[in-house]
Amino acid sequence: MKTNLSRLWGNEAVRNLLHARLEDDSVSHAYLIAGPTGSGKKTLAFLLCAALCCESGDTRPCFHCPSCRKILSGQSPDLVTLGLEKLPFAAEVSPTNVPDAPIPEDIPTPETGAVPKSIGVDAVRALQADVYILPNDLERKLYIIGHADRMTVQAQNALLKILEEPPSSVVFLLLCETPAALLPTIRSRVQTLTMERFDDDTLYAYLTAGDREAKVLASRDPEKLRLFVRLSGGTVGGVRRYLAADAKTLSADPVYEAHETAARCLSIVFADEMKNDSPVLSGTALKPRKTELYSLLTTRVGTREQLRALLDALGEAVRDITVCACTAEEDGIRPLFFADTAQPAAHAMSVSPTDLVSVSAELAAARASLDANPNVTLLQSRIAGILMRLRYR
Ligand SMILES: [Zn+2]
Repeated sequence: MKTNLSRLWGNEAVRNLLHARLEDDSVSHAYLIAGPTGSGKKTLAFLLCAALCCESGDTRPCFHCPSCRKILSGQSPDLVTLGLEKLPFAAEVSPTNVPDAPIPEDIPTPETGAVPKSIGVDAVRALQADVYILPNDLERKLYIIGHADRMTVQAQNALLKILEEPPSSVVFLLLCETPAALLPTIRSRVQTLTMERFDDDTLYAYLTAGDREAKVLASRDPEKLRLFVRLSGGTVGGVRRYLAADAKTLSADPVYEAHETAARCLSIVFADEMKNDSPVLSGTALKPRKTELYSLLTTRVGTREQLRALLDALGEAVRDITVCACTAEEDGIRPLFFADTAQPAAHAMSVSPTDLVSVSAELAAARASLDANPNVTLLQSRIAGILMRLRYR
């Protein structure tokens, strides 16, 4: 019997560890799968559950046997999920297309509602009652708790009671972004598997090799795919979310929108930078541009969340320009905001490193002021003023 968790991209260390555990039948009764949104926590959880119960004598999970199908489609009474908004394989593995594995009618459809803000003690007590009932469908009882870091302290304490003396057939998979939000007593009773964040090149390579939509976009508009990769936070799910989004959804995404707004701000600030003899603008040329910037900011960034995302994006852009201004060799530079070094290097010719450092500090101060609930109009005007310092001294 072989194990194959390769449907999860990357994460070789985690996969190797689980392959070894599955093959010598020493899988722990509880794992904490930690990682950012979109990093494959659910994918790993469902693959692991299927591998544990797969009936194939060959490679596990096989995706075809009744156990695999019931687990991957979320349709088994022995698989209980909490706090999951979407099942990663449900569309691919529907139990209705398995003639040899009839699904009883009284099984609820998989949970697809909104993510709970918190997971309360009642939900965990319901599990507590279920845990001691023997599995009747699969080899194990499987529990996947998404957003485990949203469990209340009482809920965690109730879970702790189960984890202290778990029945032998039970496997708990706790998924979370912030392990520190879990009680130390919980963390000490589970093995932690940490999901990988990919660097941009690795992620781009994975996607263009294995994701249909990414391949289409890469051939049509590779710059856009690169932008999605940069904004994704190093996760496959982050890029897929952008790939699936239409224009309206994209404009509602604060990170994407902030990137667009920041790019437009910079194009106003640096307009005709190469046409003038001196990159420094005169006072009379400065004023209309500052007005243009201010009106862009008032139409596009109104909430604190939008301002925070914009200031983060601008901070990254200024960082890229600063690195280009301070480095003769551009090859080793990995831009955070720009697609490549051509644009930040051109901007770097217009600004002195000292001004870049002070602009960067002022942007950081503006961002810090967000915590003090500032006047939004004043802050929009302040950002316009800070940015124009890139062209005026
Ligand atoms: Zn199987």
